[in-house]
Amino acid sequence: MPEALRRACDIPTIDHRSQVFPGILNAARTGVQSVIKSASAEVFIFPSTGTGGWETAISNTLSPGDLVLVPATGRFAHGWAEIAKAMGVETEIMDFGLRDTIDLDRVKARLSEDDGRIKAVMTVQTDTSTGVRNDMAALRHAIDETGHDALFMVDCMASFGCDRFEMDAWGVDVMITGSQKGLMTPPGLGFVYFSDKADRARETAQCLTHYWDWRPRVDPPYFYKYFDGTAPTHHLYGLDEALNMIGEEGLDTVWHRHAVLSRAIWAAFDHWGTDGPLEVNMHDHALRSHSVTALRAGSAKGTKLRQWCETKAGLTLGIGLGMADDGAPEWDHFFRLGHMGHVNAQMILGALATIEAGLIAVDLPHASGGIERAAEVIADATRD
Ligand code: PLP
Repeated sequence: MPEALRRACDIPTIDHRSQVFPGILNAARTGVQSVIKSASAEVFIFPSTGTGGWETAISNTLSPGDLVLVPATGRFAHGWAEIAKAMGVETEIMDFGLRDTIDLDRVKARLSEDDGRIKAVMTVQTDTSTGVRNDMAALRHAIDETGHDALFMVDCMASFGCDRFEMDAWGVDVMITGSQKGLMTPPGLGFVYFSDKADRARETAQCLTHYWDWRPRVDPPYFYKYFDGTAPTHHLYGLDEALNMIGEEGLDTVWHRHAVLSRAIWAAFDHWGTDGPLEVNMHDHALRSHSVTALRAGSAKGTKLRQWCETKAGLTLGIGLGMADDGAPEWDHFFRLGHMGHVNAQMILGALATIEAGLIAVDLPHASGGIERAAEVIADATRD
């Protein structure tokens, strides 16, 4: 979280029924609308985790017994499918493993043979566990080629505000995200964007429940009903500041910054890996996320490195997620680097240099010179 955003949240609690509050909420609604590249999609902002966003998407569009197709490229697509299943929706998971993107031909073949049972295609743009970045425009195109009418629902938890996303151009019907990643705001706000088509599906959706129903929330009978409970006032102050920062930098520049910093990270890891077991999980650069990089250390030194960075140098790396079963010896082979939201060159170069110190300290074999490769990427991208 940027310092300015922390300060924005640090205010006395205001009366959420006061005249001040509608101004704050409306600014936040307009702000989040401005980063979605859509002329017509509506957004529902609510106190929730991303998991609540998953449930909202299903609740408003599907009924028990409906079938959804879930192209999966990591842990999180499975997570969304589990929620759907728990709500009585039938899920057909098309699993592309942990190191690949969605095979569009397989999706096309399945949709082409469908007799109208599949009501939605639900997938994840950036799967935070594998670090894959799936091409949502290409998936939309593939769906269109089959002429299938399924809703297109996308989880952008890890990619929103970091990687290009275009709701209208990509024909996305429901997009879910949260406050805590690219939006730099404390965890606790969910966002669900929905198209007219998704809103029409709500008319018949039998999974719909009172709290998750987006229609009375985005169009409340009276103001208090927007949140249908005590409003998350402090989060909204933070969100407003985040949106100001994104607006000042410019969304395209924000995406570009993430792309450059990602290339710097890959340059370091790809180089370190030329003489040792370190590997970026996704080989193809075109499939790598601009917000999170999943790494393979080839041995339990993955956990050792992560622990060294945290305890000796104050750098928190992510655990490997969904790569090996909990308790299995391989669980320690994986770790992840988050580079989303409030990140710049000095933070990333600092993190990479810390990791290099850690590689030396835990004796994880690697080629020296990774930092220089990362520095070159940043210098090349920023030369006047
Ligand atoms: N989807 C993706 C891609 C995520 O990365 C996460 C969390 O990291 C979630 C969904 C779930 O979000 P939450 O942890 O807020 O429930």
